Parts: sequence; structure tokens; C-alpha cells
Amino acid sequence: MKQVLLKKYARLLVKSGINIQKNQVLVVSSPIECAEFTRMIAEVAYEEGAKEVVVSWSDELLTRIKYIKAPEEVFNEYPEWQKDFFVSYARQGAGFLGISASDPEVMKGVSPERMAKWGKVSGEAVKEYRDRLMINKNVWCVASIPTKPWAKKVFPNLSEEEAVEKLWENIFKTVRVDMEDPVEAWEEHKSNLKKSLDFLNNSKFKFLHYKNSLGTDLKIELPEGHIWFGGSDYTPEGVEFIANMPTEEVFTLPKKTGVNGVVKSSKPINRNGNIIDKFSLTFKDGRIVDFSAECGSDVLKTLVETDEGSLYLGEVALVPYDSPISKLGILFYNTLFDENASCHLAIGNAYPICIRNGENMSKEEFEKAGVNQSLVHQDFMIGTRDLEITGITEAGEEIPVFKNGNFAY
Ligand code: ZN
Ligand code: ZN
Repeated sequence: MKQVLLKKYARLLVKSGINIQKNQVLVVSSPIECAEFTRMIAEVAYEEGAKEVVVSWSDELLTRIKYIKAPEEVFNEYPEWQKDFFVSYARQGAGFLGISASDPEVMKGVSPERMAKWGKVSGEAVKEYRDRLMINKNVWCVASIPTKPWAKKVFPNLSEEEAVEKLWENIFKTVRVDMEDPVEAWEEHKSNLKKSLDFLNNSKFKFLHYKNSLGTDLKIELPEGHIWFGGSDYTPEGVEFIANMPTEEVFTLPKKTGVNGVVKSSKPINRNGNIIDKFSLTFKDGRIVDFSAECGSDVLKTLVETDEGSLYLGEVALVPYDSPISKLGILFYNTLFDENASCHLAIGNAYPICIRNGENMSKEEFEKAGVNQSLVHQDFMIGTRDLEITGITEAGEEIPVFKNGNFAY
């Protein structure tokens, strides 16, 4: 039974997630723990016409050893061949499948400065590759499969084996692999998201005002020409793909300098193997002017101080409190799942596709249009059962968008 579901999942990722085309290269970034499933992905991809499946293996325990033991200078330079790997496959039009399965606490005790520095060096080195993905020039998809340490963190009271099984079960649910025909189920899901997209795109709100009992009181300005997205994406050539599986969000971008007030996190985030929890950010004209965290404040500090853009927001996403993943009542310690169970924002880079003509804008035009740019893009959850969001139109009319944590219409 499990084998059948695994095969269904692999097929869903290759067909609906990446939507592999004949003779296209598929690049998979996979943890070594996920080798068995990654081989299954490769099999399906070849069956569907892939020219070659190339895997970039990672081993987070080895990465941890490197962070702790390696000399400082190793973190100053990104290897040329590694840069070529990503950039050249991207130029060839490859599809990129990322498997996100990290142990939420694997980097505990590692110097956050060292990790932030490496994040910056590697981010700058493969900028062309990252930019291409941000504007959907290449198809990409991020999905997850369980690993033992991650499953144990999610289900600490179960044995390792039971925890892994339980995590599989829940992942299958969130990506609709437990349904008779997952591909069909995703079509239906996309058309449901379309209803929210139509409402938001037609309303053309100038502001969203967030309030809840945690203490969030935040007014976010949306820039002129902003576009709400959700469900699937398209390449400029019109190839449809799904960048995140699961996905329950509809999202757009804030105006870089138009965010004011206080926002409180509602769930912990796993930032590259470190946990940041119970934090608060204060904004003045878009900029974070104050922040604090009960847990992981040093990691939060290095995150917001990465560059100028990491002091501003780049994403505004709406997810009902009663959405299917939220209803599972599980804290996944993995942003891919937790962000799709909760309204969230992102610190850092905005998706250029979220503004009219964004894929053709220069750096200066982004700045003028209010599109934030940064090396980082870190989602964080702010949704609660009592979250209220009011939309304010250009004319000053107030329309409820969220009531009691869910869409008001
Ligand atoms: Zn999001
Ligand atoms: Zn995001």
C-alpha cells in the first residue's frame, strides 16, 4: 500500500509540481536520507520523458561538521564549479525539484554569524539561478519527505519508526496523495483558490489592516499594480507548474516602505536548522525598527541584519485558520507546511511576478515601485483563530477580508 502511495506522490511531483517536458533536464536537490524516494522520482521523470535527472546530494550532518570545524576562509568563497552547476542547468532550461526535510535543530549551537555569512556568499554567487526561479523562468517545486530526526521532532512521543510513518501519513494528506486521483484533486483545489484570487485582485486594496489578541496591529500598504497569486505558476512560455506542494496560500507583495505597526509571530520558524519562536517585529515606514524573540533572538538578529532588504517585508500571504493543513493541528517545524497552515509574511525579497510587469523591471524600477529586494526570503506565521483583516480601498472604503481567522466573504 505504502509503495503505491509513494509512487503516486513521485508522479504527482514530477507531473503536476514540475510538469516535466520532453527532453528537459531535472535537477533534484535531495538530502542523502531521502535517496530511496529520490531514485523513485528519477524513474518517474525518465518515464515522463526527462533527458537526464541530476541530483545534488546534501548531508546536513556533514554541513554541521563543516560549520563547526572548518577554517573561517572556507566561508568567504563559493566554489566556482558549484555556481556553474546551478547556473548552467538553469540556462539550459532545467526544472528544479527541492526536497525540504531538515532536522529543525540540526544547527543548534553553530555560530549564526558563520551561517549568515555563508548564506550571503552562496546567495550572491548563484544570484542568476535564484532570480530565474523568482520570476518563474525555470519551473521549480519544493516538497518534503520525512526523515527520522525531523519526524521525531514533530511527534516526540512516538518511536522513530512510528514517527516517520505518521509524518508520511500527514504529508500524503496535505498533498492529496491519499485521494483517488491526486492530479484531479489538485485541479479542484486550484479552482477553489481562484475564488479568493478573484476577490482580492478585483478589490485592489490599498491597505490591509491586521489585528488580533496576540498584540498584532499592523497596517500594510499594497503597491499599485500588485497581483495576488496562488495555486499554480506559469513560465513565460506558458508551462504550468506548482512551486510549493502543499500550497494553501494566496499571496502578493507589500509596498516596501508602506508597513507600519507591530506584528507577533504565531508559530515557531525553522531557520536553516535553528528555531526562532515567540517573536515580535515593529515597523516604521516599512523598516523593522525594533524586534525581539523569546527563543532564537541571535538567529533572528542575523536574519534581519543580512542586508538592507532583510529589514523590510517581501510577501503578504493569506491562509484561512480552518484550512486543511491547519486543521491537522500539527506543528511541522518546516515552513513549507506551517506557512500553508497560517497567514504569513516574509522578511526579505519580494516575488517580482507579484507586480504588473515585474519580470521586466530593473533594480531601480523595483525600488521605485516599492518591490523589496534581498538575499533572504524567510516566511513567518502570524495567523490566529481571532485574526481580523480589514481591506481599505483607494477611496477609503473598509471591507472585511478576514473575520475570526477565516475569509470574511
Ligand atoms: Zn508564502
Ligand atoms: Zn514565502
